[in-house]
Amino acid sequence: MRVVLLLSSATGKRICTILLGMLLILVIIFFLHRELADNQPAVQTGLPLSGRGIVIDPGHGGYDPGVFRRSLTEKNLNLAISLVLRDYLQGGGARVIMTRETDRDLLVLPAAGPRKRLDMKNRLAIIRAANPDLLVSIHVNASPSPLWSGAQVFHKRNCAHGHKLALLIQEELKRVLQNTNRPAQEGDFFLLNEAGVPAALVEAGFISNPEEARLLADERYRSRLAWAVYLGIIRYFDSVYSPAAD
Ligand SMILES: [Zn+2]
Repeated sequence: MRVVLLLSSATGKRICTILLGMLLILVIIFFLHRELADNQPAVQTGLPLSGRGIVIDPGHGGYDPGVFRRSLTEKNLNLAISLVLRDYLQGGGARVIMTRETDRDLLVLPAAGPRKRLDMKNRLAIIRAANPDLLVSIHVNASPSPLWSGAQVFHKRNCAHGHKLALLIQEELKRVLQNTNRPAQEGDFFLLNEAGVPAALVEAGFISNPEEARLLADERYRSRLAWAVYLGIIRYFDSVYSPAAD
């Protein structure tokens, strides 16, 4: 009986030692794991637009050229500017959704009714499905007078966030391009009105002004334009979501 007890005691000690050893190993693994996790860079932290969803709508496309002068067509300029803007925004960490990425309209299905309205409704469907933080629509302007010039940003009436967004993009366009004194302005545009998120429509310049048409045809100028819009968007998120805001 005593031998059995002695054996039991020895076995018990061994089991205790093994259990303690296992516990120690588990504790070491736990702390090692935590340290490794702490040292892992969180996905895209530090990028200015991390976690932001942004829809870019390059105006017109496909059957709808928008305004044009000679070989320059608004739909192509809108798309070219938008694709550069997309790259800047994605580089800044944003989730970017485009209403189109090629020269196409949004007449997804043949349907009755005016084509323009159907195109707009389908753009709106893309915007709503994307559930973004903001929308920016890119266009090029034209006027009967060749004298008018300058990029200008529009926003929905009575939309404080849209107004802020347009104001900041306009400021950056002025600063970066050094060729527009136009103010951000209210505008009555279907997508701005219906998007349900802060939205700005950028008229990138007047194709009817020979000098501005020449600039718009220049890839480097379009990149500067897209850069200005990008900076305006960053400033918007900084101002709206910083702890000091409101
Ligand atoms: Zn347009």
